[in-house]
Amino acid sequence: MTNEDEKVIPVRVALRCRPLVPKEINEGCQSCMPHNISKKTYTAFTYDYVFEPTAEQEEVFSTAVSPLLSGLFKGYHATVLAYGQTGSGKTFSMGGTYTTAQENEPSVGVIPRVIRCIFAEKEQRTDCEFCLAVSYLEIYNEEILDLLCSPKDKPAISIREDPKEGIKIVGLTEKQVFSAPEMVSCLELGNSARTVGSTAMNAASSRSHAIFTITLEQRRGTDKADSVVSKLHLVDLAGSERQKKTKAEGDRLKEGISINRGLLSLGNVISALGDESKKNTFVPYRDSKLTRLLQDSLGGNSHTLMIACISPADSNMEETINTLRYADRAR
Ligand code: ADP
Ligand code: MG
Repeated sequence: MTNEDEKVIPVRVALRCRPLVPKEINEGCQSCMPHNISKKTYTAFTYDYVFEPTAEQEEVFSTAVSPLLSGLFKGYHATVLAYGQTGSGKTFSMGGTYTTAQENEPSVGVIPRVIRCIFAEKEQRTDCEFCLAVSYLEIYNEEILDLLCSPKDKPAISIREDPKEGIKIVGLTEKQVFSAPEMVSCLELGNSARTVGSTAMNAASSRSHAIFTITLEQRRGTDKADSVVSKLHLVDLAGSERQKKTKAEGDRLKEGISINRGLLSLGNVISALGDESKKNTFVPYRDSKLTRLLQDSLGGNSHTLMIACISPADSNMEETINTLRYADRAR
């Protein structure tokens, strides 16, 4: 552990540019992203990490995500957020379509790698007892949906703040798990339950925020009072594109507005956290369900990584610039 790791930096930003996808190549799109960029700067902005189109999932994980896992085992909460327009690679990066059939492929994203890593660490550690639980939810139109519970036995879900335990989501399924395959099956179950709506922009665009949460309890000895609980939120955010581009109408328009609310307040919260001069000022967590829910895992002693996903295609230039700006402001 270096001093750098010990120092709590509230938010780190990784910029990730995906390769052109076959559809873009067929449509004659050109890459408008600069080549041979120096690490950490891209266009006029600065980031903690920059991943070029050739970067593998393994590189993203080991460079940007695994430092958060070492923090988690020391009792720090952590949050990984994938931000970007629809089609920029958020779900790919997070592993939100993972099935066990992909197990040995290099395309496996963050969540399945985190699961592997946590259980590998658990095997190694004999000094304390580990208790692991998961929940998986979606925020859609400012409403919380449980992805680990079928809609027919859906309880009402509310957010409550406990002075000792922090943010509690009442009515949400929290499944205790004992093995990596068991946790992976929760991920698969939730992935298949995710709400998707189609827009003119992308046939399977995701209009909701999905949050996969792993709770780790570490206990030395038998005394419950001796336990340390840390939470890791892995978040696949809704598409950041402005809704006029999606020809949204009616219900869709309503969706567009509420999605903006979450992303807007997330931007405000993160920039308040990152700004030393705003240190003791008000952080607007209560402005959206998203920030309210992540409240105790953003800022304070928590580590946050935002993976800002962009497309290299010239046709996406406008949204790409918006993402570059949002991510630069987050840092
Ligand atoms: P989003 O979740 O942001 O809407 P996706 O993750 O679904 O975007 O990615 C859109 C498409 O681009 C998918 O076909 C995905 O497989 C592909 N893709 C995204 N990132 C990469 C990458 N780094 N390498 C290869 N293909 C990628
Ligand atoms: Mg997606």
